[in-house]
Amino acid sequence: ETINPVENTASNSPAIQRLYEGELIHVENVTRSFGTGKTQVHVLQGIDLHVEAGEMVALFGPSGSGKTTLLNLIGALDRPTSGTVIFHDTDINKLSDGKRARLRRRSFGFIFQNYTLIPTYTAAENIDLVLRLPRLHVFERRRRTRSALEAVGLSAWSDHLPGQLSGGQRQRVAIARALALRPAAILADEPTSGLDTRTAHRTLKLLRGIAAAQGTAFLIVSHDMTVRSYVDRAFELQNGKLVPQDLTAFKEQQAS
Ligand code: ADP
Repeated sequence: ETINPVENTASNSPAIQRLYEGELIHVENVTRSFGTGKTQVHVLQGIDLHVEAGEMVALFGPSGSGKTTLLNLIGALDRPTSGTVIFHDTDINKLSDGKRARLRRRSFGFIFQNYTLIPTYTAAENIDLVLRLPRLHVFERRRRTRSALEAVGLSAWSDHLPGQLSGGQRQRVAIARALALRPAAILADEPTSGLDTRTAHRTLKLLRGIAAAQGTAFLIVSHDMTVRSYVDRAFELQNGKLVPQDLTAFKEQQAS
């Protein structure tokens, strides 16, 4: 019920093969309410969203509009009040808690504000930790950790503790950790926060490249409008619904 990436047998080859194809995220008529009676809030009021392998989708919306709530439902961290969340043929809500946790660990990479680095582990050890869950061989874990840190420009910082890194560097370690797992989908909450403009652009370009090369699907919650020029589609959460955004102007801006 979980998708495992096909292992790249040509391990010396720098080229990364496409790991995922087809529709990965399928959200249908999803609602999520919190509380009961008079204090009940209907945060999501009928969400439909389909994301294909290799697609990058942005989610905008004011604070409190339900962006995090939606990411949590897709990432199997929460269950909807009604509706279905299907991840690559698997109805997430029909799984037992154990199977949901397994799917979450293997198939999703999280770049979340509250999923912070462990302060007593080095940058490399923080990445290695998530690679232990799918039981990857130690050599494969080292190889992936090294290449993920290299991708975010932190090769020289692998043995540093989070406390010895700047906020932007810590954010890049968190991004490397999500990439190293090579999950089918990466859910990112403000991935460019704490990064300077140049690094934000470099990071978004990197994610774009990963999406194209590996087929990873990205769902990015952000206030950072530079994100718009990198994504395939964007939505704004308004009154519990997803409103598609027109990206034409930003695509032209990027091309020129
Ligand atoms: P955003 O990420 O867009 O800022 P959230 O998804 O965090 O918005 O929150 C949307 C609304 O849902 C808020 O009004 C918040 O108070 C409410 N909410 C989110 N999670 C819970 C919860 N576990 N219990 C009660 N209310 C919640």
